[in-house]
Amino acid sequence: MFRYDNRFTQFLPGDSEDRNFRRQVFGACYSRVQPTPVPRPQLVAYSPEMAETLGLTPEQCNSDVFVQVFAGNQLLAGMDPFAMCYGGHQFGNWAGQLGDGRAINLAEVLGRDGRRWTLQLKGAGPTPYSRTADGLAVLRSSVREFLCSEAMFHLGVPTTRALSLVLTGQDVVRDMFYDGNPEREPGAVVCRVAPSFTRFGNFEILAARQDDVLLRQLANFTIEHDFPEFWAARNAEQNSPLFYADWLAEVCRRTATLMVQWMRVGFVHGVMNTDNMSILGLTIDYGPYGWLEDYDPVWTPNTTDAHGRRYAFGQQPQIGMWNLVRLANALWPLVQEKEPLQRALQEYSDTYQREFQAMMAAKLGLSQYDEELVDGLFRVLGSLETDYTLFFRHLARWQASAVTANEWTELLDVQGVPELLKPAYYNLGQWSATIAQRTRDWLGLYTARLRRETESPLARATRMNQVNPKYVLRNYLAQLGIDAAAQGDFSKIARLLDVLRQPYEEQEANEDLAEKRPEWARHRAGCSMLSCSS
Ligand code: AMP
Ligand code: MG
Repeated sequence: MFRYDNRFTQFLPGDSEDRNFRRQVFGACYSRVQPTPVPRPQLVAYSPEMAETLGLTPEQCNSDVFVQVFAGNQLLAGMDPFAMCYGGHQFGNWAGQLGDGRAINLAEVLGRDGRRWTLQLKGAGPTPYSRTADGLAVLRSSVREFLCSEAMFHLGVPTTRALSLVLTGQDVVRDMFYDGNPEREPGAVVCRVAPSFTRFGNFEILAARQDDVLLRQLANFTIEHDFPEFWAARNAEQNSPLFYADWLAEVCRRTATLMVQWMRVGFVHGVMNTDNMSILGLTIDYGPYGWLEDYDPVWTPNTTDAHGRRYAFGQQPQIGMWNLVRLANALWPLVQEKEPLQRALQEYSDTYQREFQAMMAAKLGLSQYDEELVDGLFRVLGSLETDYTLFFRHLARWQASAVTANEWTELLDVQGVPELLKPAYYNLGQWSATIAQRTRDWLGLYTARLRRETESPLARATRMNQVNPKYVLRNYLAQLGIDAAAQGDFSKIARLLDVLRQPYEEQEANEDLAEKRPEWARHRAGCSMLSCSS
C-alpha cells in the first residue's frame, strides 16, 4: 500500500526499554510501541484528497485491510510504530514530560508527489507517555479532529491532515463535564497525517533535562529533514550559533503566518500549550477548539480556560510569541547568544504585523491596509452580536451595492440597519441609535475608501469571497454530525466533509450549512463550550 521512508526512527535514538508501561524516558526521542487491537473496527469516513495524496485508491480505502490498519489491528510490513517523547508548558507552567500519550506514529511514507508523510493513529491505546490516562479517544473528539483538519486544509490554513476515522467497537469511559458523572462513549481512532509531528515541546524536554547532545541532534535532524530549503541553503553552517537562530527565525515566521490565518477564518485553538505547537507552523491537536461565531476577542471555547481566557481568540497572536520564547529558551544551549535569538523573535512580530495588515486589507477588499478603518470595524463588530464569518461574506455584496448606488445610505433600513448585512446579526432586538450611528459612520468611511480603489466592485467581490469563507465547521454543525454518528448515521459527517471541501464557493444545495448558529445551540454542550475531555 505504501512506500516507506522511516527517518525518525532511523536517525534518532530510541528508548532502550521496549516494554509498554508508563515511565519517564531519558536519552531518547521516542519509544517503540504497538497499537492496541480493538474488537470491531468500522470505517466512518476517509478523506479522498488525503488518500489521493498518499496514492491510495477508493477501493483500497474501502478494503478490510485499510480499516484494520487504521484501527490499529494490523501493521503492514515496513511500519515501525513509535510514540514521541516531548514536554511542554501547559497554561503557562512547565509540565515536564508529556509525550504521545495516545498517538502512535505508524510510519513515514512517500506520497504520490514524492513528499514524506507521517501516518499517526490517535486513540490507539496506551504508550509509555500515557501518564494516568488510557490512551484512547472517543467518537465526539475524533469526529471533530477529522473534520476540522480537512476543513482547515481546504480553507488554506496550515494544518496536520486526517486520512481516516474509524469506530473501534469498544466503549471508552469519559467524564465529559468533569462533574463526577462518567459515561460510556463509543471509542474511535483517527489517522492523522503530517510531514512531521514534531512540536516545540520535543526540544523543550531535552533542554529541561540538559541533554544538549540530543538537543543538537534533534535540531539538526529536524532542519535537515523537515526544513529542506533551509538545509539546502545553510547546511555548511551546521553547528554554528547563527544556523540555529536563523532556523528559529523561520519557525517564527511560520508561526506568525499561522496566527494570521487563524484570525482570518475565526479559528480558536483552545489549548495553545507548547506541546501543541508544531515546529512546522501547522495547526495541530484539535481538542476543545471552536469557530468564532459572534465576534468577541475574549471568547474561548475551552471550559478549562473560561476563567483565565489565556487562549481566547484575540490572545492567540500574543500566545504564539510567548510559546516561541519558550522555544528560544530551549534552543539556548545551541546558540548561547541573546542577540540572534532576539532578532529571530522579532521576525515573529514583524511577520505578524505585515501579514495581518495584508490579510485585513484582503478581507475588506482594499488594496492597502487602513488602520483607522480596521480599528473602527472591530469597534462596530464588538457593539452588537455579529457573526464574524457571515459579516465578511456579506460585506462583498454590500460593498458592490454601495459603490454603484447613488447614495450608499439607501442600503440602510429605517432603523439604520444595513439590509445586506442582516443575516450576520444575532439579535437585532438590541439594535440602538448608538449602534446605528457607529455602523453608519464606519460604512461611510468604508465606502469613501472603496471609491478610491480602481478595481471594479464585482471583481473585488470575487476576490473578497476567496479570503472570506462561506462555510466553516461551526461548532453546532460538528455536534449534529457527532449526534447522528453516535446513532450509527454517518451521512451528516459525509455531507460536512464534502461541503467543507469548497468553503469559498456558493453551494446552492447547502445554504443551510452556512447559516448562523441557531438559538438552541447557544448554550448546548459541544455547540458553544467544550471541555478538554476527549
Ligand atoms: P492535549 O492537551 O490534549 O494535547 O494533551 C496533553 C497531553 O496529555 C499529551 O501528552 C497527550 O498525549 C496526553 N493525553 C491526552 N489525552 C490522553 C489519553 N486519553 N490517554 C493518554 N494520554 C493522553
Ligand atoms: Mg497535545
